[in-house]
Amino acid sequence: MLMDGYGRTARDLRVSLTDRCNLRCTYCMPAEGLVWQPVEETLTDDEMARVIRIAVERLGITKIRFTGGEPLLRGGLEGIVAAAAALTPRPELALTTNGLGLDKRVEALAAAGLDRVNVSLDSLDPQRYAQLARRDRLADVLTGIEAADRVGLRPVKVNSVIMRGINEIDIVPLARFCLERGYELRFIEQMPLGPKGEWDRDGMVTAVEILGALRERFKLSPAEEARGAAPAQLWDVAADDAQPGGRIGVIASVTHPFCGDCDRTRITADGQVRTCLFSRTETDIRSILRGGGTDDDVVAAWTGAHRGKPRAHGIDEDGFVQPERTMSAIGG
Ligand code: SAM
Ligand code: SF4
Repeated sequence: MLMDGYGRTARDLRVSLTDRCNLRCTYCMPAEGLVWQPVEETLTDDEMARVIRIAVERLGITKIRFTGGEPLLRGGLEGIVAAAAALTPRPELALTTNGLGLDKRVEALAAAGLDRVNVSLDSLDPQRYAQLARRDRLADVLTGIEAADRVGLRPVKVNSVIMRGINEIDIVPLARFCLERGYELRFIEQMPLGPKGEWDRDGMVTAVEILGALRERFKLSPAEEARGAAPAQLWDVAADDAQPGGRIGVIASVTHPFCGDCDRTRITADGQVRTCLFSRTETDIRSILRGGGTDDDVVAAWTGAHRGKPRAHGIDEDGFVQPERTMSAIGG
């Protein structure tokens, strides 16, 4: 088991499959100049499958989320999903994607065993989408979302980051879009994991502000089930004449950190275990895999890393230092 010194056990593994991406979202990556990890440092499909097997069979992982960078850029994604789905006990398998090209692969991914998908969508306005993602691809994202719904990866979840002065105007339209289609929307507070020096605590749109904007248009009540280790605070939205009811989540990672309930562990595309998004240290699993290490060696390194998992990310504390890697290279 992956237990830490604060009584938390990690059950949820985030697997970053690549640091590369076909978008350049302003809160995640610089417009240019980010150096990609060398291909030879990226874990191969077989190495990924081995890491996942060890995590499930030996370390008690029950949920896996594939992310990146953009995980759909990984040609072997379906094979990695299938290998994970064949494990006992079978883990829950989810994908976080920007949706580009999802329509072409979603059937194969579902057949391979993918259970759920989160698609990132920050605006329904093509110009604002292009301003945030630095690429004019809104139509492709919408096609991807529809395809995921069509093949039954329901409920499709939609992730939105709100940036002050850019897409606050999209809060209500995004909510209406998701409610009308039965998608579950999650707003995520912007965290300091993008280009260095660009995050500003005072400029960040908070969960309270997002809820305030939603309440101007919708009737919200707290969802009954306990949040547990899930980061989103869930709200039930009442149906009215204009739209059906549904559920919306707000992830207040900065203003209401959920570190005390954290059940995450992470592996980067280049095979480094991170116990937290904001870790400033990593544990090198790739060297163990490539140096002829046994499964026991991987287990020892991973459990050792978790014993040192920090209590909290400390974004709001004095002396907080942003990690070297951007979100795209960590795996959100
Ligand atoms: N490329 C895929 C995507 O965009 O869904 C997967 C990787 S992306 C890093 C995963 C999630 O992290 C996305 O929903 C994205 O909006 C979110 N994200 C990226 N940078 C963030 C930041 N600085 N703060 C909060 N969320 C962020
Ligand atoms: Fe790419 Fe996802 Fe980061 Fe946007 S949020 S730049 S789609 S990795």
